[in-house]
Amino acid sequence: MSKLYFIPGSQDLYGEECLRQVAADCAEMVSFLNGKLNDVVTVELLPTVETSRICVEDIRRAENDDDCVGVITWMHTFSPAKMWIKGLQMLRKPLLHLHTQFNEKLPYDTIDMDFMNLNQAAHGDREYGFILARLGIAHEVVAGYYKNEKVISRIRRFAEVAKAISFSKNTLVATFGNNMRDVAVTDGNRLECEIRYGWEIKYWGIGEIGKLADEASEEEVDAKMKEYTDKYTMATDNIEAVRVQARYEVAFEKFIAKNHVSAFTDNFQDLFGLKQLPGIAAQNLMGKGIGFGPEGDYKIAAFSAVLMKMAEARKGATGFIEDYTYDLTEGEELELASHMLEVPVSFAAGKPAIEVHPLGIGGKEDPARLVFDGVTGDGIQVTLVDMGDHFRIICADIELVAQPKPMPKLPVARIMYRHKPNFEIGTAGWCYAGGAHHSVVSTALTREDIALFAKLTGTELITIGDDTTMADIQRI
Ligand code: MN
Repeated sequence: MSKLYFIPGSQDLYGEECLRQVAADCAEMVSFLNGKLNDVVTVELLPTVETSRICVEDIRRAENDDDCVGVITWMHTFSPAKMWIKGLQMLRKPLLHLHTQFNEKLPYDTIDMDFMNLNQAAHGDREYGFILARLGIAHEVVAGYYKNEKVISRIRRFAEVAKAISFSKNTLVATFGNNMRDVAVTDGNRLECEIRYGWEIKYWGIGEIGKLADEASEEEVDAKMKEYTDKYTMATDNIEAVRVQARYEVAFEKFIAKNHVSAFTDNFQDLFGLKQLPGIAAQNLMGKGIGFGPEGDYKIAAFSAVLMKMAEARKGATGFIEDYTYDLTEGEELELASHMLEVPVSFAAGKPAIEVHPLGIGGKEDPARLVFDGVTGDGIQVTLVDMGDHFRIICADIELVAQPKPMPKLPVARIMYRHKPNFEIGTAGWCYAGGAHHSVVSTALTREDIALFAKLTGTELITIGDDTTMADIQRI
């Protein structure tokens, strides 16, 4: 279970009794937080920082604990912030500054100097906030009484984003084949991806999958076919084409397990040894939280895996998508987003159908794929691009809608959405920002989640939504 350490701040100026009370109050707060957050994370109390040495010991413990995904700090009393410098300089995990109080209301009738000295986050948290700002440490501040639902939900968000960042630092992307020839936005600096986000991007030839697929036993393929027919409607007579995909998924699963892979890419230009472009195989794996990027897009493969991790405790769908085509009816503009085949099954509004159709490009056999209409509701579209000297995340609020009419001749899964605040500003803003045609769409995550991820990873962020104006996008 992932863990957050809770590190309170005080000092020895107020005597032993005060420090005992600080520890007791913090234990009660931690117990309360555990009751509220136990589906996402556990919270563990560390010794109160009274000296620089204790701070270093606490942070060292957080850094050395692989289960620890982040740290919460709070100043119960005043805590001179020079004591925090050396410890904070060692901290590389996400940091939450909880600006709260043990008491909700002031005890007007009984308040005295002892009470004021014990409960002075208003004083101590400002001293502490200064040193975080002075040291330039990226962090989240959550302000309010710690039992308030709004405060709890923001701590929960921090825990989910911290878990995603921890996952990110352990993400291995297997790239089968290279970047699609001549495509710009899917390419970039792999080395910088590993330095900033921890993504190990490693190359293998697609023949590795072809070999494992050839070696898969009929029993393994039968079991995978059963998984497909249990979950999906078989809407083709070409069972052999579906078995080819089942064979690929068996191969990918073996490769993923053996090499501890979180995400993978392929490229339809390089399918040597494969008869079909992986369709169902990729779609079904994405439904299990495995990141995927077509055309060698290692950034979206890794980013989609990280965002699926961030969303794992929430309702809603999260996954890769490609911007494809528009309905430009004035005032009612809609986007149809899809891909050649590889739309994550998480987006299915109903039971997907397994179909086999020709693929116009790639020159391979007709691939089996899952076809479905998409989920609806408020969501975000988010992407990550390499600007040469930095990465940029672009996050747009969207509304996923039901397709207005059936599309009986379209042989791929799809989602549809409306841009915010409107088509003109939403899509022009995306173009100005250099947003990719590959992105992650989520009905589980919000702009605030992405903003926190961007802040804690030191990534530039551009957001587009109902509060975006034409003047805003002219400044991008
Ligand atoms: Mn694509």
